[in-house]
Amino acid sequence: MIDYWLLAFDPMAADIANQVPLTTEQALALLLERARPITGNDTVALADALGRVLDKPVISAIDQPGWDHSAMDGYALRAAHLATGAPLPISQRIPAGSVGEPLAPGTAARIFTGAPIPDGADTVVIQEDCEADGERVSLIESARGKIRAGANVRRRGEDITAGQTVLDAGVLLGPQHLGLAASVGAAELQVRRRLRVAVFASGDELVMPGSPLGPGQIYNSNRFMLIALLRQLGCELIDLGIVADERQATIDALARGAEQADLVLASGGVSVGEEDHVRPAVEQLGRLDLWRVAMRPGKPLAFGHIGDTPFIGSPGNPVSLFVTFCLFARPFIRRTQGVAGDLAPRGQLLPAGFSLERPVKRRDYRRARIAHGPDGQPSIQVFPSTSSAAITSLTWAEGLVDLPAGCPIAEGQLLTFLPFSELLA
Ligand code: AMP
Ligand code: MG
Repeated sequence: MIDYWLLAFDPMAADIANQVPLTTEQALALLLERARPITGNDTVALADALGRVLDKPVISAIDQPGWDHSAMDGYALRAAHLATGAPLPISQRIPAGSVGEPLAPGTAARIFTGAPIPDGADTVVIQEDCEADGERVSLIESARGKIRAGANVRRRGEDITAGQTVLDAGVLLGPQHLGLAASVGAAELQVRRRLRVAVFASGDELVMPGSPLGPGQIYNSNRFMLIALLRQLGCELIDLGIVADERQATIDALARGAEQADLVLASGGVSVGEEDHVRPAVEQLGRLDLWRVAMRPGKPLAFGHIGDTPFIGSPGNPVSLFVTFCLFARPFIRRTQGVAGDLAPRGQLLPAGFSLERPVKRRDYRRARIAHGPDGQPSIQVFPSTSSAAITSLTWAEGLVDLPAGCPIAEGQLLTFLPFSELLA
């Protein structure tokens, strides 16, 4: 689906300073429009398919359940035979994994959960409703007249019928998908190959943990966040390390990344200062779309291509990097990995546990978490500092709260909370 504003919006045409800022939704829609799912696949053992993207649908060759079976431990019988109230002889015993004989008329079969219902029976009475002496079974007083014909019988094909597509291509495989695939007998799955992502951090001030800090230097924390964020998404990594604030070094890193990877991600150096070389380097090698997004934290979002390889550049401040990754890079990566369906985070509406008299000028994704009052009611708390350099806000928080621009926030007002569990999945 193409929105009209997408057609009207040409990031190449306008000077960045004169662009009408995009909303987060518009920026995300543009990114997703431009994402090209990778091709190529691997066939992997079912147990190794966790976190991969299904490439070939799974079609069941069998019914599920494969036969009418008992949902409970109890007695299989014909409901009509209960009418007289007389005890029924127990004619056979059917544990799970075995198949009984056809039920002799006027008798009951001792049966266990998962065992096939014998021909001639239509109902299972749970053992708690029965009195049995090993030879005969009858209903306890309180159950008499209350047994519904067909009770506790799971029907053949009730969940899945042979020929049914149980998993579609484009599904991100979680434990439940592997369970379902196994239940229809799949031993291997065809999945998309892993996305290869090249990363680098630009900045002359950066030093790796383990080395002493010199004057004016800081540790390269973004590398570790970025690599971990990508690992969580199941990406293969090409680490291009720290790149100096220098045009040629930046060009070399970008070129190497574009050649080896499906996507290049960079932290830092995308602003408009003369020490920011990523922008001009991308422009020199390929093309750059720089979008003003009406949000905080975050400067313009840098998106571009070097040849066919997409590039996303995040601001260097750790909080900006993290938030930009959650809101834009993650959905872009998921689409490029071949994940189908809606990728925009939905979040949940929860009451604000704070107030803001002065409205925020730009939509603000603040670091937030949920507190529970004495009555058990949840409310959203925000981290006291709004600094995008305050990396402690990220470990304090459990998610982001989406603060609308231009209106004060009253305590108790419903706001959208975006949990990290959703933003990083
Ligand atoms: P930049 O986007 O390059 O202008 O950087 C913005 C701020 O983020 C500066 O204070 C940088 O020192 C800091 N920064 C840049 N890269 C990193 C990094 N890899 N790890 C931690 N902080 C960084
Ligand atoms: Mg910099």
